[in-house]
Amino acid sequence: MPANFGLYGEMRPIIVDGERGAEVYIRPDMEALGEQIAERSREDALFRDAVVYLTCLHELGHALGLEHTADFADIMYYFGFGGDIPGFFGRYRDKLNIREDIAGESGLSDGDFSQLQALYGLR
Ligand SMILES: [Zn+2]
Repeated sequence: MPANFGLYGEMRPIIVDGERGAEVYIRPDMEALGEQIAERSREDALFRDAVVYLTCLHELGHALGLEHTADFADIMYYFGFGGDIPGFFGRYRDKLNIREDIAGESGLSDGDFSQLQALYGLR
């Protein structure tokens, strides 16, 4: 089965008190994500944290209306285009020394910010 974010997580639009909302599901079982992801996660807790965090970020991007892209730099990159998926997570993991570093490393690319700006006018 080709790797795609559908294996990692899912966003479902919902209505809460008449307002648009989202349910975000993240698969915490790295063993189900293929041998490369599973092995690196067993050896490196920060790699697992990176997978979980970036998956949350991707799914929350969907909740905010962001579309998939073909740019490997983007959090909204669609894994169906292929590429080095462990490397996708690894490049973020390499920015971390401890788990708390996640709070200071957004994981968003310039392309992701451009999509957010187009939708919401954010700077
Ligand atoms: Zn997606």
